Amino acid sequence: MTYFNETIQLTKKYIEQLKTDGIDRVIVSEKGENMKKRKKTIAVGKLEKLAEEIKNCKKCPLHKSRKNAVPGEGSSKAKLMFIGEGPGFDEDRLGRPFVGRSGRLLDKIISAMGMKREDVFIANIVKCHPMIDSLHPDERGNDRAPSSDEINGCIGYVEKQIEIIKPKIICALGSVSATTLTGKKAPLGELRGKFHDYKGIKLMPTFHPAALLRNPNWKKDAWEDMKKIMKELACK
Ligand code: URA
Ligand code: SF4
Repeated sequence: MTYFNETIQLTKKYIEQLKTDGIDRVIVSEKGENMKKRKKTIAVGKLEKLAEEIKNCKKCPLHKSRKNAVPGEGSSKAKLMFIGEGPGFDEDRLGRPFVGRSGRLLDKIISAMGMKREDVFIANIVKCHPMIDSLHPDERGNDRAPSSDEINGCIGYVEKQIEIIKPKIICALGSVSATTLTGKKAPLGELRGKFHDYKGIKLMPTFHPAALLRNPNWKKDAWEDMKKIMKELACK
């Protein structure tokens, strides 16, 4: 008898013995830590596959002028996701979200919240740089908000990222992200400062870091929004 057959025979005998002892079911479950690790590996794999899909995406005209698509980055287990509008000049060069001036301010905000960039997940509503003049992708200041067609074409990607990561809280940065994710066509001033519902996840709209750079007097209100997020993250 091979070792494999012997193991099966012994297992059978063991189960029959359990039966005669009155035990009619055996629950096989993975230990907590193993289960967590396996879930993490699955989530990382799904995010990577999605990122590949985004990098090859040609669903809307923005693919023609991009240098790089910007899928997003961060922890697959993030409790907090920041979602901006779309990549700008610097992000298009590097293929990474929030790496220009706005990004440096976002980094400061994350650090003031007691976290690191690697702890959260940072993404955008659209994954390619919307340009005013797509014939001059090498010029700075060539940014515009994405159109509703571009948003509708791209929104499935960020929706999937949220579904995979399952964060506790989403922070929508700026009006495009706030109106898209809440589905409410209201000014950011009305939406920000309170939690909304995104498919059972708490969603806090706040000012975009670029707006805070233009209007530093809004920083105080933005910090009030972050404090609400921190309070919510602290309670289990
Ligand atoms: N602005 C955004 O909305 N997203 C970025 O990634 C950078 C700037
Ligand atoms: Fe695809 Fe989104 Fe880029 Fe358009 S913006 S090409 S939908 S990834």
